[in-house]
Amino acid sequence: MVIRSIRWRLQLWLGFLLVGVLAGFGLMVHQLQGVTQRGLLKEDLERRVAALNLAVRGGGGPASGGPRSLGGPSEEEAREVRRIPPLEFRGSGDRQRPMGPPPDGPGMSRSGRPQARIPEGAFELALSGGPPGGHAAVWSREGVLLRRTEVGPPELPIPRRPGRSTQMLFRDRDGLLECYQFTELGDCVLAGRSLQPLERAQRRLAWNLAGVGAAVLALGLGGGWWLSTRALRPVEEIRAAAERISGGALSERIATTEPDSEVGRLAGVLNATFDRLEAAFVRQRRFTDDAAHELRTPLAVLLVEAQSALSRDRSPEEYRETLKASLATAQQMRRLTDSLLQLARLDEGDGLGTALPLDLGEVARAQAEALRPLAIQKGLLLEVLTSSAPVCGDAERLGQVVTNLVANAIQYTPSGGTVKVRTVASGDDCSLVVEDSGIGIAVEDLPHVFDRFFRADRARRRAEGHSGLGLAICRAIVEAHQGRISVESAPGVGSVFSVRIPVGKAA
Ligand code: ADP
Repeated sequence: MVIRSIRWRLQLWLGFLLVGVLAGFGLMVHQLQGVTQRGLLKEDLERRVAALNLAVRGGGGPASGGPRSLGGPSEEEAREVRRIPPLEFRGSGDRQRPMGPPPDGPGMSRSGRPQARIPEGAFELALSGGPPGGHAAVWSREGVLLRRTEVGPPELPIPRRPGRSTQMLFRDRDGLLECYQFTELGDCVLAGRSLQPLERAQRRLAWNLAGVGAAVLALGLGGGWWLSTRALRPVEEIRAAAERISGGALSERIATTEPDSEVGRLAGVLNATFDRLEAAFVRQRRFTDDAAHELRTPLAVLLVEAQSALSRDRSPEEYRETLKASLATAQQMRRLTDSLLQLARLDEGDGLGTALPLDLGEVARAQAEALRPLAIQKGLLLEVLTSSAPVCGDAERLGQVVTNLVANAIQYTPSGGTVKVRTVASGDDCSLVVEDSGIGIAVEDLPHVFDRFFRADRARRRAEGHSGLGLAICRAIVEAHQGRISVESAPGVGSVFSVRIPVGKAA
């Protein structure tokens, strides 16, 4: 249920995205801070090792009285040192003489080579200047620990020298970072610091980042919930309106304040669909009402005929008359049901036979000529002026259109009038025109002549057996051929029915 909701899905995605971005950002900051702090630590240790190295090589210190070495601490640095509490030193058992010269005399080893000397105060000065704390040590070339700070790890093994390297090197051990360097003479100086403060700072930073990240996540998710609620409100309104419409409120529509927004356009499309559905529904209901009404009349006639025939004994002649009347009524009902069936099929899209190339001119001529006796009988002039009009379609159904239109023209044209039938192909269309000089159609009736069951004079036409479905069937057939049918008429002057059908390609 939760995952089906778009709002919850959006929240989930937003949550994933925020957690990913915040975690990535936090990790990056944490790593950068770690690398930077370690870099600063290394720089400090390098500086200390360089100063120690200088002191060991006999460089100047405040107590040495000797000349100041290149790169050694300056007067300013020396003054600075005095402000920093001095580091404590201790000897290394019997292996070390902290302040004095080595056992075999100052400056010389047993082997007779020059021995490392650490002038008074030079060791302290070398370790001053940076952040307080840390440890340092100096070893002779024989590996004897000469000096070391009081503070620092209990075990302080001499580093391993790779070849004859005099490079500054680093080693990580037991939570300590140590920088060391061997002099050209082989003495070794080392400065180191515990990594614990750095790790503590990193842990603190991690907690701070997690706290800020959680706050940003909560804020982001809250904002996302508010935004999605706002964005989905119109969709919720559409759903509610659609539910009401499907529940029977067919005339209701979706209200939209922003018709140009995405949701507004969707509401517009839905409203247009509801309009069409409502119109179709109304049409359907009227059609059903009309069909029932049209069938009820002949049925009533049939019932009355039968009842009056059976009410008492009748002569064979009277029975024959009753049966003839019943037959005519039944035939009228059959025509009506046939028309209804045909319309229903055309509505469903399967009211046409196989579409074949045909000449609408020929079809029109044949159907019109078939009706000529009727025109003559009524004292009308029938003009058939057809030319080739190639279309693709169902010849029988198109013939039915011609017959309906010409029969109507004959029907509604008084004696002495004229009925003209023309076909012509022009451009992309073929047209069929049926023109009469008859009674015409009233302006208010014109928009309805193609409606189902429309008759200008309803009662009289029904009595004459006209159902008012002829033109509706014509329109359905023409539209099934992708064509259009229209009418122009003036009462007392006559009517012109025009059919346009696209030119048919040869099959
Ligand atoms: P029906 O002819 O069965 O009544 P139609 O659908 O063919 O049904 O015609 C509908 C109505 O349109 C007719 O009742 C008549 O009022 C009007 N009509 C049709 N054709 C013509 C015409 N040529 N001249 C005048 N009125 C016409």
